[in-house]
Parts: sequence; structure tokens; C-alpha cells
Amino acid sequence: MITAPFARPLYVMAKPAGAACNLACEYCYYLEKSNLYKEVPNHVMTDNLLETFIREYIQAQTMPQVMFTWHGGEALMRPLSFYRRAVELQKKYAGGRTIENSIQTNGTLLTDEWCEFFRENNWLVGVSVDGPQEFHDEYRRNRQGIPSFVKVMRGIRLLNKHGVEWNAMAVVNDYNGDYPLEFYRFFKDIDCRYIQFAPIVERMRPHADGRHLATPLEEGERLADFSVSPEQWGSFLCTLFDEWVRQDVGQYYIQLFDSTLANWAGLEPGLCTLGKWCGHAGVMEFNGDVYSCDHFVFPEFRLGNIRSQTLVDMMYGERQQKFGNMKQEGLPAQCRECEFLFACNGECPKNRFMRTASGEPGLNYLCKGYLRFFRHVAPYMDFMKKELLARRAPANVMEAIREGLIGA
Ligand code: SF4
Ligand code: SF4
Repeated sequence: MITAPFARPLYVMAKPAGAACNLACEYCYYLEKSNLYKEVPNHVMTDNLLETFIREYIQAQTMPQVMFTWHGGEALMRPLSFYRRAVELQKKYAGGRTIENSIQTNGTLLTDEWCEFFRENNWLVGVSVDGPQEFHDEYRRNRQGIPSFVKVMRGIRLLNKHGVEWNAMAVVNDYNGDYPLEFYRFFKDIDCRYIQFAPIVERMRPHADGRHLATPLEEGERLADFSVSPEQWGSFLCTLFDEWVRQDVGQYYIQLFDSTLANWAGLEPGLCTLGKWCGHAGVMEFNGDVYSCDHFVFPEFRLGNIRSQTLVDMMYGERQQKFGNMKQEGLPAQCRECEFLFACNGECPKNRFMRTASGEPGLNYLCKGYLRFFRHVAPYMDFMKKELLARRAPANVMEAIREGLIGA
């Protein structure tokens, strides 16, 4: 059990345009959330709600830094004036705290003006890009089926031109999952030093309100074709790791490897999927509805609305505590007895829809892939952990490999 919830900063990602997006990527888990608000004509956060959110969010923080994250849908579907106003309000309510902002975008709507704003205000921009053109354009298209790679790369060039700090967020799916090195080298070729990638796993189930993805509580649904397979995921991670650990440690930051090392060394991983608990990062929709997590925006996981409840009550309340504990409490015996539980923690509960060999529910669909990865990286992680704990650079692993000390 988490005994001191306030020990964690309160974190709520805002969706100022709801699920609205100018693209319609085939695997998007968020696009269909607009069905939750069919009766509302305009899915936009009002100025009044924006002010309530900013004021409350800052006041609820227990730390001197406050991190705002703007997310979608496509966050740039709101005009620049909306974000200028957000910055104004952040200054008004900062009360001596340091305010930081990050925004996630598909990159296609970026202009010189947006980039100037991000640079001037030191915003960190996350760009969704799935690797080289052939991979990216397979699923990342608009409603007319027109692919988006060329526009995304134009956006990235603009970010570079204006010196905006950005990183890449990529999805690993059934298509690019077989090409880890082409995928990885693309990011190196465009000099992207901070790479986040996530496996896509979805199951299909039609709902009366028009949504067609299964909620985590629904069992026995058909896997979506674009999902990465556990075997692909394991092989993808191992192949990419082999290149990274020999050439790129300390040069290219790969969030999943970094989080694995953190777990190996007994530190807090940056990636929630590999962490012990959930529940520290909620989501607020355009109308003030707050949900337990970006991947649990389902009616069953709505915590309340900021107009009638405080963020503190919702995010530190009993329901969210229960949600956070579910990650540990829902582990099947196979995970509890697994030698890599410390590194995996059963991964994201959203993906735990399989049964173990003994028929127990709650096994992660990607388990096989993670097992293969953790076994493969164990000697390297052991070495890097020792370096890290001795306050030496984990990058020394590259020399150790060259000298034949590990991974011969
Ligand atoms: S449910 Fe999944 S995505 Fe959400 S906090 Fe937990 S591990 Fe992270
Ligand atoms: S590797 Fe598999 S068995 Fe081990 S903790 Fe992860 S999901 Fe559970």
C-alpha cells in the first residue's frame, strides 16, 4: 500500500481540445474518446475552466516545480492565443514556484509562430513520429487517408530552426516492430537524442456509444491487427538494445532502457509502465472531467469534475489510491514469483488480459517479450548498475564489452 500519497507530486495532464485531431491514426487510443461527450458541440476548454485548472493545479503542488503537460487528441488544435493565456495565468498564480510546460503534438500544424512561442517560453515539445517514412505513413494518416510524414518532418525542421527543445514519441506496432534497427537509426540520423517508444496493444469491442476499443476490464476480446506481438516486442527490444549498449550509451537517451536500469539499481523509473504503482498521473478532459490515467479514460475510471471537486480530493482520494494499488494487488502468482518482477512490475495493467499457465487472470500480454528482454540485458544491467552506484558512468559498459568483460 502507498502510505504517504502526498509524497508524490500531483500530476494531471490537460486535454484542452479533448480528443479532437487533424489526423486519424489507425491505432489511436484517444480519438474515439470524443464519443464520451457526444452531447457537447464544441470540445474546447473554456477560459474560465483553464483559469480554475491552472490556479488549482499550482496550489495543489507539494514541490517547488510545477510541470504542466498539454496533450490531445492534437493539442495544437487550440489556437496559440489559448496557450499565451495559459502562460499568463501560470504567471499570475505561480506564487514563487517554477513553472514548466511540455506539449505533445503530431507535429503537422507547427509553424514559425508556434516555434517562436515554444522557444521564448522554454516549452518542451514531444513529437509523435514512428520512424522512417514507410513505417510512419503506414498508420499515421488523416481521415482522407493522406499520410503525414512529410508534414511532421517539416515541423521537426522548424523546431530545430528555432532551437526548441523536443523529443520523439514513437509507437511500436505490428508493422515497424520487425525493423528495430531501421527504426532506431532513423532517430539517430535526425539527431534525436531522447527517444521514447511504446508498444501498441489494443483489443476491439464495439460499445453502444460508438467506441470500438475494449476497456481493460473486458475479457476475451479480439486483438487489434496493428498490435505488436509479444515475440516481436522482445526481439525488437533486444536488437535495439544490442546496438545502443555497444555504441550509444550516454549519447542517446532511450527511456525504456533508462527506466530498466533505474529499476535494476533500485531507483524510481521514469516510465510508469515499469513502475510499482499507478495513479500518480491523471488526465483532465476539456470539460473538467478527471480520469485515473491517460490509458484509463473510460466512464468506469472517471474520478469527478474539477468544477465540483478539487484536484487534491480526486487525485489523492480513495478511488485513485485503489487504482494505484491495483498494479501490485492484481499481479498473478506467475509475476509475483518472477525473477524479473523488480524490473517489470507486471507492466501496464491495461495489457494484463491474458491468463497464466495455471489459468489465473491478470498476466500481461507482452510478458514473453519482456522476459526475453530482461534475460538478455541482465549482464549489461548488472554492470551498469555497479557503475551507477559507484558514481561512475554507466557508459563504461561500452568499453567493458570491447574488452570482452561482458556479452562475449
Ligand atoms: S495504467 Fe498503465 S499507463 Fe496508466 S499509470 Fe499505470 S502503468 Fe502507466
Ligand atoms: S516478465 Fe512476465 S511474469 Fe515477469 S513480472 Fe513481467 S509480466 Fe510478470
